[in-house]
Amino acid sequence: MDKIISILGCTGSIGTQALDVCRAHNFKVCGLSAHSNVELLEKQIREFKPRKVCVYNEQKAEELRKNIADLEVEVLAGMEGLCQLAKMEEANIVLNSVVGMIGLVPTLEALKAKKDVALANKETLVTGGQIVIQTAKENGVNIYPVDSEHSAIFQALQGNECNKIKKIWLTASGGPFFGKTLDDLKKVTKADALAHPNWSMGQKITIDSATLMNKGLELIEAVWLFNLDPTQVEIVVHRESVIHSAVEYEDNSVIAQLGVPDMKIPIQYALTYPNRYPCPCKELSIFDYGKLTFYKPDVETFVCLKACIEAIKMGGLMPTVVNGANEQAVALFLEGKISFVDIGNIVYNSLNLIENKHNFTVEDIINTDKIAREYVLSQVK
Ligand code: NDP
Ligand code: MG
Repeated sequence: MDKIISILGCTGSIGTQALDVCRAHNFKVCGLSAHSNVELLEKQIREFKPRKVCVYNEQKAEELRKNIADLEVEVLAGMEGLCQLAKMEEANIVLNSVVGMIGLVPTLEALKAKKDVALANKETLVTGGQIVIQTAKENGVNIYPVDSEHSAIFQALQGNECNKIKKIWLTASGGPFFGKTLDDLKKVTKADALAHPNWSMGQKITIDSATLMNKGLELIEAVWLFNLDPTQVEIVVHRESVIHSAVEYEDNSVIAQLGVPDMKIPIQYALTYPNRYPCPCKELSIFDYGKLTFYKPDVETFVCLKACIEAIKMGGLMPTVVNGANEQAVALFLEGKISFVDIGNIVYNSLNLIENKHNFTVEDIINTDKIAREYVLSQVK
């Protein structure tokens, strides 16, 4: 396979698993970027030998330059560096696995440079969905979903391009607090919230999974990726995380994708589509499960999900508002400055923050994100 990949966010949970896939198939890696973990990045550079790397944090970039002075690797920094990695000439696919809406501009740069994008960074579509999909179309390139649910939907759509989708079943593990009441949630600690039952992920998405914000973001992501009305997406709590999502067609047939909860499967499919190859992960042993369960989500207790449902129905800049409020609230929760239930209240209240706009630019998105973050910071004494 003639794959040459540039990876944004190579030191994270998705980034390191993507490198496991690259190692297994001898894919070439031309670009690697991290925020500040230069120790791990240096190891990756010595193994995968990219031509360019980017460290978002300028000081850390300088540290890396000194540490790899024996190598001929260009070390870039900041947003400018990230965008350069997104449009490297030799790359035939860009994997965007940075965390947060910071990933939006690099995704757009990759698409404008006519690169296919394997997209893990869901915040790209939550904030810039309309512009991103339009940019991909205009440049004749594809966005391949990495998020496991969206990969499952994408897989269930293969061969059905001419058939109408009736509904999507977007599955959710329910996170560590499934079945809990608001009173229970008031006692939740950071350690409780970081202990996800099925998936091992970065800190921000782990908290998003505990609040169900993650499912809300994924609903918005699905609306843009698959051109759906929000009412066509049914969220199904499925504790075992075996069915990764499904598509229901007009004849009431439901086509699902199943597998072990291991992100290497969707990462690899996004990189090798339409082909499948052996994957460095376990196979699914369905008899280990015996039975699979399904429940409706509790949107009254997990108000982040309710906020996202309302935001995508309102459209315009509202998904950017709830996303920005959530990114800031999660950061404050991880710093021990607000409680777990504060996250939901802050995100839900942010729906009243701005006068909505339906025609907007990337600058409007960036400004709105800033307003949402400042609002959250102003709530903390
Ligand atoms: P991690 O926190 O594990 O990794 C994030 C990566 O992005 C790291 O390489 C980090 O560098 C880098 N990074 C962080 N902040 C910045 C910044 N401001 N500028 C540039 N680079 C930055 O996150 P995950 O891998 O868990 O998630 C990545 C994305 O994929 C998220 O959008 C998440 O929602 C999505 N996703 C993740 C899944 C998972 O299983 N983990 C599943 C489905 C989707 P450094 O290490 O130096 O800090
Ligand atoms: Mg997911």
